[in-house]
Amino acid sequence: MKIQAAVATAPQTDLEIRELELDEPRPDEVTVRLVASGVCHTDAIVRDQWYPVPLPAVLGHEGSGVVEAVGADVTDLAVGDKVVLAPASCGVCEHCIAGHPQYCVDFSPLNFGGSRPDGARMFSEHGSPISSNFFGQSSFASVTNVRARNAVKVADDAPLELLGPLGCGIMTGSGSVLNVLRPGAGESIAVFGTGAVGLAGMLAAVASGATTIIMVDIVPSRLEFAKELGATHVVDSREVDPVEAIREITGGRGVQYALDTTGVPQVFAQMTKSLALRGHGVLVGAAKLGTEAPFDIGTLLTSGISISMVVEGDAVPREFIPKLIALHERGLFPFDRLVKRYPFAEINRAFADSESGETIKPVLVY
Ligand code: NAD
Ligand code: ZN
Repeated sequence: MKIQAAVATAPQTDLEIRELELDEPRPDEVTVRLVASGVCHTDAIVRDQWYPVPLPAVLGHEGSGVVEAVGADVTDLAVGDKVVLAPASCGVCEHCIAGHPQYCVDFSPLNFGGSRPDGARMFSEHGSPISSNFFGQSSFASVTNVRARNAVKVADDAPLELLGPLGCGIMTGSGSVLNVLRPGAGESIAVFGTGAVGLAGMLAAVASGATTIIMVDIVPSRLEFAKELGATHVVDSREVDPVEAIREITGGRGVQYALDTTGVPQVFAQMTKSLALRGHGVLVGAAKLGTEAPFDIGTLLTSGISISMVVEGDAVPREFIPKLIALHERGLFPFDRLVKRYPFAEINRAFADSESGETIKPVLVY
C-alpha cells in the first residue's frame, strides 16, 4: 500500500515527507491508520544518531490510530479498534513475564534495530528499504504495521488525537513516579527538567497527594507553567544552587523522591545530593552512550539513598495507559495542558518548537 511518511535522512537535517510502500502485516501484526503522533525528544536524538538506528528511517513512537487490518493470528484486536501504540517487547523473556517489559532482553533490537527481528523492513521507496519498526511502530507515517502486543486498545469515545504521548513521554514521567518512586500523601519530591516528561511526573506526584513538589529548570517560563499546574515550589538553577534551595525548602532534610529528566551529568549529581536519608532518585533523561556523571561516593555512602535507571516508567502499557486515561477523565491528570497540535506537514516546525522549548509536547495530526 502507498503511504506518506516523514523520513529522517541525516543528523541535524529536516525530515522529508515522501511517498513510501508499506508491506502486508505479518500474522502477529495489525495495520494501523495513524490519527496522531506525539514528537518526543528521543526522536530528535535518534535523527541526530546519538543512538545508531540505521538511516534513512521513519521515526515516531507516540502514535495513536485505528486498526485497519489484522494478521491471521491476532485474536485480541479487530478492524476499527482505536489503539495507542507502545514500545515493543518480546513477551516471553524473564523480564517480560515478570511484568517489566521495558527491560525486555530484546528491547534494543526490537525498538532500535530499524527492521522486524528477522531483518525485514516494512517500508520501502522504489524498492530500497527504509528503516521501520522504530519503538515497534514508526508512527511518523500515515499507516504502519505494529505487533498486536504493543497496541493498547482504548474506548471508542476516547480522545484518540490526544493520546499518542501516553505511549512514551507521558508514560515515562508519570510511570517513574507512580510505578517506581511511589510517593505517598504528604511526601516530598523534586523534579529536574520541566519538559513533557518532567511535567508528567509532576502531575503524577500531584495526583499521588505529594505536598512538597519542587520543579527545577533553567527556563523561567516553564517554571511559571509548572506552578500553574501544581508545583508547590520552583527553582531556577541558573539563578541559585538547586541543592541548597531544595535543602532550604525541606527544612534541611532533602526530598524523599527525585526525578532527573535532563540527562545532564551535573544535574544528576545535584539530584543525588538533594535526596533525604533513604531517599530514592530516578534517572530517565537520555545522554549519549559513554556519558559519565559525578557521584560523591564518599559523602553519599552513609545516606542510604537508592538510585534507579528507568525506561518508559517501568510500565506495562496495556495496564498503565488505561489508568492514565481514567485519571485524565476524572480531571486528576490534565496532561492535555502540555499538548500543542501541528498538521503532519509541519513536522519540522514541531521538532524546532520542541527544541527551542516553545512547545512542551507537540502532537502531529494526520
Ligand atoms: P524536554 O527537552 O522537553 O525537557 C527537558 C527539560 O530539561 C527542559 O525544560 C530543559 O530546559 C531542562 N533542562 C536542560 N538542562 C537543564 C539543567 N542543566 N538544569 C535544569 N533543567 C535543565 O524533553 P522531554 O521530552 O521532557 O524528555 C526528557 C528526557 O527524557 C529526554 O532526554 C528524553 O530523550 C528522555 N526520555 C527518556 C525516556 C526513558 O524511557 N528513559 C523516555 C522518553 C524520553
Ligand atoms: Zn519517547
